[in-house]
Amino acid sequence: MTPTEVLKNIFGYDNFRPGQQAVIQKVLNEQNVLAVMPTGAGKSLCYQVPALSREGVTLVISPLISLMKDQVDSLKQNGINAAALNSTTPQEEVNPILRQAYEGKIKLLYVTPERLEMDYFRYQLNFLNVRLVAVDEAHCISQWGHDFRPAYRKILSGINSLRSRPNILALTATATPEVRSDIAHQLNISPNDFVITSFARPNISFKIVNSPKNTRLYVSQFIKSHPEESGIIYTNTRKEVQVLVNYLNERGLNVEGYHGGMESQERESVQDDFQFDRVKVIVATNAFGMGIDKSNVRYVIHANSARNIESYYQEAGRAGRDGLESTAILIYHPSDLQTYRWFIDNSEADDKYRQAQYQKLNDITNYVNSGECLQQFIVRYFGQECKPCGKCSNCLDDRKKANVTNEAQKIIGMIYDLDGRFGKSIVAQAVTGSTNQKMKSIRANKLEHYGSLKKPQSEVISLIDYLIANGYLELTTGQYPLVHATNLGWDVLDGKQQVFRKIEQKPSSNANSQE
Ligand code: ADP
Ligand code: ZN
Repeated sequence: MTPTEVLKNIFGYDNFRPGQQAVIQKVLNEQNVLAVMPTGAGKSLCYQVPALSREGVTLVISPLISLMKDQVDSLKQNGINAAALNSTTPQEEVNPILRQAYEGKIKLLYVTPERLEMDYFRYQLNFLNVRLVAVDEAHCISQWGHDFRPAYRKILSGINSLRSRPNILALTATATPEVRSDIAHQLNISPNDFVITSFARPNISFKIVNSPKNTRLYVSQFIKSHPEESGIIYTNTRKEVQVLVNYLNERGLNVEGYHGGMESQERESVQDDFQFDRVKVIVATNAFGMGIDKSNVRYVIHANSARNIESYYQEAGRAGRDGLESTAILIYHPSDLQTYRWFIDNSEADDKYRQAQYQKLNDITNYVNSGECLQQFIVRYFGQECKPCGKCSNCLDDRKKANVTNEAQKIIGMIYDLDGRFGKSIVAQAVTGSTNQKMKSIRANKLEHYGSLKKPQSEVISLIDYLIANGYLELTTGQYPLVHATNLGWDVLDGKQQVFRKIEQKPSSNANSQE
């Protein structure tokens, strides 16, 4: 069958989606390919269609057993015989599965990267005509990515040892240019064979809610005002899932919780309730979502910020897969980032990976504070361009821009005085003239800009965040990030550059900024 026939007759779809045909063509031409497409774009079809339109077996490397199971189940529902081999497969089932693959009855075989490391498994694969190895969630190969998985590093040598010399198709939803070239380098893919579709999600309105007084109240009011709609609320800990579910239930809202600590049966039943609209809203950790294929999710709210832009966009992107107008809200509280920092501080990962994760925390902080179009910010983060969306909370922010050069100069001057040796809060304490022990021990009161800015510290920190997000200042990466000025920042200090910011135009704050 031709790819178009497979699409129509087996999957029942009329048209390919953007990028699919280009990928399939390259695969059939036996090129190694990297496909970068957002969540929900239809990456799986890019290897399933070629697998079914020609002889031979396609090996799909997948990081999660649950993900494999979902894929195999949904293929079986379409009448396609596929199988998964992983640590949960009973030993007596392995040989029959491989036999069926040998006989051409199974065309898609899902395996974990660890399985490909096993000598005996690779020996067995040599009896099969493996044409293509599809590497799903390919960003797991990169330490610059957000989900590094050591076994992914050995995929290429595993593939190279196969007698049938299959081609490679790497797939991911979340690759920055850096991660992209790392994947290509490690899997031997030429930059000419990248297929990258647009990252913009025009039917999603992105919104930031910065430091609300009561996050739980905000969430409950949002749910109440959208009673007919399906939504997902992400929190950062299992405990917060439970607390928030109780809070919402007590207010008469029918929501269910989901996290990795629940029994698998219970998780499945929550997932089904959501899928079949028996419950409209799920409160979950990031364990929820992989393999969920619900097209009419109208909103996704991150109640405790997010650990990085990649995960944020993947999770927020579960809204509006049907193409209808949807909303993605990030509720931001600086203390949430402390939790994520703590996760990184205490992770077992090596230093390089940890540094990359700290940088990603800085990036998401910049997302919250930048003031530019949110859709544009994200798309640029992934190395693309798009027009301002006209409907995110920044595009709709009609406050006037105020000149904050004077305040910025005091902050940058303070950083100069302190020689760039401190983080945000020490800078804010010093420039506002705090008299605590730390100020005494560093003799801050002897410095030129000490106490030069008469504002609450929280406002000063917010301005520092703004200056970082807009390139006047930068944070070092690491457990205790220091604030440094960039060249643009020094230009502000020298009076060569002005800084504008949208803020509430209260008469009193205007008077302050003129001082
Ligand atoms: P991804 O892996 O990119 O997140 P999936 O491969 O899971 O996305 O596909 C998302 C949904 O889109 C699935 O329900 C899939 O069946 C559907 N889909 C994929 N390609 C097409 C197409 N050409 N036409 C219609 N629906 C499609
Ligand atoms: Zn916008």
